Amino acid sequence: MDLQEIGEFGLINRIRRWATSSDPALVQGIGDDVAVIGKGLTALLVTTDILIEGIHFDLSWTDPYTLGRKSLAVNLSDIASMGGTPKYFLISIGLPKNLPFSFVSSFYRGLKKEAKRYQVELIGGDTSLSQKIVINICLLGEGRKRDLLFRKGAMAGDDLFVSGTLGDAVLGLKILREKGRIMEAEGLVTKHLSPCPRVELGQAIAKHHWATAMIDVSDGLLIDASHLLEESGVGARIWEGRIPLSRLYQRWIRSFSKDPLQLALSGGEDYELLFTAPPKMRNRISSLARAHKIPVTRIGEILHKKEGFHIVRKDGKDYSPSRLGFEHFR
Ligand code: ADP
Ligand code: MG
Repeated sequence: MDLQEIGEFGLINRIRRWATSSDPALVQGIGDDVAVIGKGLTALLVTTDILIEGIHFDLSWTDPYTLGRKSLAVNLSDIASMGGTPKYFLISIGLPKNLPFSFVSSFYRGLKKEAKRYQVELIGGDTSLSQKIVINICLLGEGRKRDLLFRKGAMAGDDLFVSGTLGDAVLGLKILREKGRIMEAEGLVTKHLSPCPRVELGQAIAKHHWATAMIDVSDGLLIDASHLLEESGVGARIWEGRIPLSRLYQRWIRSFSKDPLQLALSGGEDYELLFTAPPKMRNRISSLARAHKIPVTRIGEILHKKEGFHIVRKDGKDYSPSRLGFEHFR
């Protein structure tokens, strides 16, 4: 059996079974966007993400400054998905020896810019020689334990919401790969190169205690929805016609795919928030979205587990998705 057979998530599930802990301070170990630790009212949040040259980024279309910003942004998004406050980070870098120093200084300028925007402090890291550029950030944060939102917690009957629009980043990447940089598609490319983590929105959703579960959409809507459903032990129905698409996405998708929704459903790197809340919270959630000037769309409903996971097409026909989205090794 090799990794291609079990896939990234099959591997993580196996690792999760090896990591049994009886530490009473461990609120959440493997299985959510961040680990949650602490016996008191406030919990320590810890998350880490790796970015590898050729897998997660390509130097022919990203510059070091933008890469620095994105490296931190993808970690911030995980803290956002819990409703937490990011605080400190460590960064480990593997670099080839012929890399110009100016690359590293620009990278750290981008990193600093993003850190300042979200008031997080660099507190350490590690440096090594590597054939390809490897970036790993470990971000620490905090949150009031009673406010935090987990992947588990969604209940049958809840609404399913998503922030922003979906598919822009993956379409931006496709355009970069197939056509290069086009001014008219810059908005999509920017979503891929420079994602905007929903930290303040996540905190607001958590603070009000209106939502029941939350995850950030990093691997694609369907795959991340399936993680939330699995951890909550529920099913769901998502209406394709409700998937929020940007005007630019709708304009460009026709040149790339006959199915305009496929990329929005299964593409990755949206870094939007997907969350559930009881129907009586609808108006409050709409007001909150307006106050934050970020669209929040009701795209589905939570079902009992035995009812499964369905996507309803615009013509009303149901289907259960087979390939959900991006998974390493597959
Ligand atoms: P996300 O997409 O939110 O970053 P992942 O799918 O990467 O989440 O990870 C899901 C869970 O598995 C997290 O709790 C993460 O810490 C854990 N995890 C991922 N890779 C490993 C690993 N190699 N060893 C231990 N835990 C891991
Ligand atoms: Mg996540």
